[in-house]
Amino acid sequence: MITSTEQIQTTHFAVTARGLSKTYGRGETAVAALKGIDISFPAGKFTAIMGPSGSGKSTLMHCLAGLDTATSGTIHLGGTELTGLSDKLLTQLRRDRIGFVFQAFNLVPTLTAEDNITLPVALAGGTVDKEWFTFITTTLGLTERLAHKPHELSGGQQQRVAVARALLTRPQVVFGDEPTGNLDSRAGAEVLGMLRRSSREMGQSIIMVTHDPVAAAYADRVVLMSDGELVGELANPTAESVMAALATLGA
Ligand code: ADP
Repeated sequence: MITSTEQIQTTHFAVTARGLSKTYGRGETAVAALKGIDISFPAGKFTAIMGPSGSGKSTLMHCLAGLDTATSGTIHLGGTELTGLSDKLLTQLRRDRIGFVFQAFNLVPTLTAEDNITLPVALAGGTVDKEWFTFITTTLGLTERLAHKPHELSGGQQQRVAVARALLTRPQVVFGDEPTGNLDSRAGAEVLGMLRRSSREMGQSIIMVTHDPVAAAYADRVVLMSDGELVGELANPTAESVMAALATLGA
């Protein structure tokens, strides 16, 4: 049931930020990393965040994902306002409603691929939806690799395990932080293709920070940052259109 106007405005977006500012430090050494960002990420879409180094991409992602707190402004995850939640509730919300895929695969070396994928559900005391597990691991081409430990897998396979782990809880949004940064271009293309499929075929909302125009071209939309501000966006990006847009920012 819709209980407030705020929910009506925010639920068809996976994530919404209003007037988001983040300043590191104080006084003369203060750095304004985000300067009043207004942005909405539509549910079910794959968005890439790009911009020159130091433009505030990581800070924005960390604030949106509840890993860092903003100095001012509001963030909604679906109908839930993140700003002002206690650390305990934020931790719970990250666990239950957000998936992460980092540059480092962050797999537990002693566990099989299958156990790595189900670990967050196990830690949360939940039960694995077996059909969904099979669907995800089949889609990601991991069926033959489930009994392997991370060191027996290629980098691309390890990152696909990390993607499966992120998708298993059916999170409201998956955040990717340079998810192909440690992969060669072929393995990177595989992982990005899988992320795009999970958005198109499973309706997964994805927000990815990358500096790679080829990676960004897998997204439905690219938003461009410069010096803590949003300075533009591209729909249906190609590597060429992204590179041209970045060139105008001096990246
Ligand atoms: P990007 O991800 O686009 O490279 P960041 O979000 O990492 O940009 O950084 C934005 C700005 O905030 C930069 O000027 C950076 O030096 C500064 N910054 C980031 N993290 C910190 C921090 N923990 N302490 C102080 N300054 C920081």
